[in-house]
Amino acid sequence: MARYTGPVCRLCRRQGEKLYLKGDRCYTTKCAVDRRTYAPGQHGQNRRSKVSEYGIQLREKQKLRRIYGLLEAQTESYFEEAARKKGVTGENLLQILETRLDNVVFRLGFATSRAEARQLVRHGHFTVNGKKVNIPSYLLRVGDVVSIKETSRKSPRIEAVLASTGQKSISAWLSMNREGTEGTLVALPTREQIDVPIQEHLIVEYYSR
Ligand code: SF4
Repeated sequence: MARYTGPVCRLCRRQGEKLYLKGDRCYTTKCAVDRRTYAPGQHGQNRRSKVSEYGIQLREKQKLRRIYGLLEAQTESYFEEAARKKGVTGENLLQILETRLDNVVFRLGFATSRAEARQLVRHGHFTVNGKKVNIPSYLLRVGDVVSIKETSRKSPRIEAVLASTGQKSISAWLSMNREGTEGTLVALPTREQIDVPIQEHLIVEYYSR
C-alpha cells in the first residue's frame, strides 16, 4: 500500500483526536480537530453506529501508523520483531518505533514533526556515528550519536527548525551536546517515557486475531 500523501489533518479528524502531525500548527487555533469536531467527508457529521471490538483495535493500529508515518507492511514487520523480543510485546513495539532515526531526529528537536524529520533525513542532513544516513527507518542502538551534518548546519531550513524547537526539552533517554547539534541515544525508552496516546494492548490484540 502506498504512503498517504493527502492532507494530514484529515487523519486526525478521522481518528477523532489530535495526533500532532504538523508540528507547531498543532498547538495553534488553526488545528483542524479543534475547528471541526466531526469526521471528514460527506457523511462525517452523521452519527456513528456502535464500533465493534475489531473496529476499536483497527483504529488504534491506524493511529499508531499515522503517528509514526508507517506503511501497513512495515507496521506488521515491526510487530513481528516486537513479538520475537523478550518482554511485553506492545512495549517492545513502541520502543522499536522510538529508535527509528526519523523519530529520534524529531525527539531531539531537529525537526518540528516526524514527517519533517523523515524528509530532512531523506535529504541527507544527518549522520549517525559520523556516517551519513538517509534512511528514516534506520534503527538506532544505545550509544549511537545523531548529528546534523556539518554542511547542513548553516542551511536556512535547519536554522529555522532549530530556532523554532530551541526551547523544547528533550526526552530523558536522549542527551544533547552543548552546541545543540548532536544527540545521543543514552538508553532505550521505558513505556512511561514514551508520550504517545496509544493503547498498545489493542494493537497486540489486533495482530493476534
Ligand atoms: Fe492534527 Fe496537527 Fe492538523 Fe491539528 S493541526 S488536525 S493536531 S495535524
